Amino acid sequence: TSLALFFRARRQRLATHDHFKPRPIELRSDEVLSGVTGLIGNTPLIRINSLSDALGVEILGKAEFLNPGGSVKDRVALRMIDDAETVGLLHPHTGSRIFEGTVGSTGISIATIARARLGYDVTIIMPDDVAEEKVKALHALGADVERVRPTSIVDKKQNPYQNVARQRAIDFGKHSSFDKPHVLQAPPSTIVSTTGDGEKPEDLIYKPRGFFADQFENRSNHDAHYDGTGPEIWRQTSGSVNAFVSGAGTGGTVAGTGMFLKSMNEDILVVISDPEGSGLYNKVKYGVMFDYKESEGTKRRHQVDTVVEGIGINRLTDNISLALPIIDDAFRITDAEAVAMSRYLVQNDGLFLGSSSACNLFACIKLARKMGWQKGQTIVTILCDSGNRHYSKVRDFACVNDEYLKKAGIPVNPGLVTELL
Ligand code: PMP
Repeated sequence: TSLALFFRARRQRLATHDHFKPRPIELRSDEVLSGVTGLIGNTPLIRINSLSDALGVEILGKAEFLNPGGSVKDRVALRMIDDAETVGLLHPHTGSRIFEGTVGSTGISIATIARARLGYDVTIIMPDDVAEEKVKALHALGADVERVRPTSIVDKKQNPYQNVARQRAIDFGKHSSFDKPHVLQAPPSTIVSTTGDGEKPEDLIYKPRGFFADQFENRSNHDAHYDGTGPEIWRQTSGSVNAFVSGAGTGGTVAGTGMFLKSMNEDILVVISDPEGSGLYNKVKYGVMFDYKESEGTKRRHQVDTVVEGIGINRLTDNISLALPIIDDAFRITDAEAVAMSRYLVQNDGLFLGSSSACNLFACIKLARKMGWQKGQTIVTILCDSGNRHYSKVRDFACVNDEYLKKAGIPVNPGLVTELL
């Protein structure tokens, strides 16, 4: 028949092709990941070649920018939602809504996971001066965005955007209709928490709930790193780590990862990279948290996180408090140093990273120099997000925007990096 002729011709055609020979391939059963959340975590650890070669010390970065939501915050968002489901604060398909205040990364992570789980709506409260692409990404993911007056992440008061998010979650709980419950999931056997007055556990199951994720105070943040980032680093280095360097925004990364590594080997140093204007450096060094810039009476108070975004804080969050007992040292990284490192990494490693990663890597070289470390020592840090995240806005774009830096009086000096190498 014509079909048989077709197959014979095809066989003859393939047989003449050099590559038509089966090769032995090792088969693995763990290669298909479950949806987008399967992509979260297990990030590669990369050697920063330029810095490691120059210093002799191995400088390794955890490539968190490869998470599907683009940052380290995917781990935290996933854990916060998982834990909230476990204790009965969130149930899929009940019309519940997740609220969070964030400068962006955590919001994008929450919105991604909420979509993957089908059934949570998301409201993100963010300052109205953050990069426009973050807002666009949130809208694309189906989240509602409410913009509020911008404040510095290092503000001494509670972050207003966190307060607004908390209030919105409370209001949502009050105003949602409980008449028509949509319950598709059996109630968990252990419901340990309520947010309302006099709620009986069974009420929790049927209500569309407003859940305030509260990354600053939520222990799930710490736990994501204690159970994920820390063990991964230990495995990837075969336990051969001398120091872990991290900035702190909420403090979750340094608290969870640092505590895990210390629990495996208490000689591992846990070190903070603290941007200008943040109070953590003083807290670690002198036990007092104060904004040194204010005390110096400078006018740069509001430029504090103009260059370095996402890390630095002037109040003790729950996650920072967990971290404090294990922090061994801190380095203050200036805006100019963060800019110099950011540019150095693009030029020498082809790595276009966000400013907090640059800050972390600068602290790595300061630590290596201070300790007099040489060959055989290893410092691990976090590459939190990519520079792509920060394109559209002058403030975010600062590391590569000469005009902005000039206006802000921040010198561009590659020597800041090279003289330490
Ligand atoms: N880098 C970036 C870009 C961030 O958004 C954050 C979180 N605010 C951090 C670093 C700091 O991580 P953590 O909140 O765990 O301290």
